[in-house]
Amino acid sequence: MIKPEKRFMELALEAARVSAENGDYGHGAVVVKDGVVIATGYETLKSANDPVNGHAEVDAIRKACQKLQQPYLQDCILYSTAEPCPMCMSAAIWAKMNTVTYAITRDDMIDEMERIKQAGGGEFSWRQIAIPAEYIVEHGEPKVNLVPGFMSEEGKKLFELTKGK
Ligand SMILES: [Zn+2]
Repeated sequence: MIKPEKRFMELALEAARVSAENGDYGHGAVVVKDGVVIATGYETLKSANDPVNGHAEVDAIRKACQKLQQPYLQDCILYSTAEPCPMCMSAAIWAKMNTVTYAITRDDMIDEMERIKQAGGGEFSWRQIAIPAEYIVEHGEPKVNLVPGFMSEEGKKLFELTKGK
């Protein structure tokens, strides 16, 4: 397992804020190899009309492979501001990534959306497929190390940028 570092999650959080400023959901991702940032992923689902490559994790994985000119990212760690959806988690497995870490968990997402709704903050159009990243890893090969809830308090602040979207 590659141990996550705060400085890289900070970059993913910054990418999430940039994504939100561009009218997209507040998600960001970073691919790091040997302590060096290889690629930064932004959420561009709405601004690019792309529900597939517009996910921040897929964006970061694709850019990292292009930059390294290789189809796999064995020695890399993916930082995501939120628990990857089944598509993105699968992409990390196809890329043979060593480790995936994320700030907000699926449970955080459910709790925070309900809390903001109850407080009159409006509805979220943000949808989920109810398959945890752990489940994908359990059923996938090769195995990816998961580090959930890394800097989750910082990650939860992103919900304020996403409500009403
Ligand atoms: Zn995704």
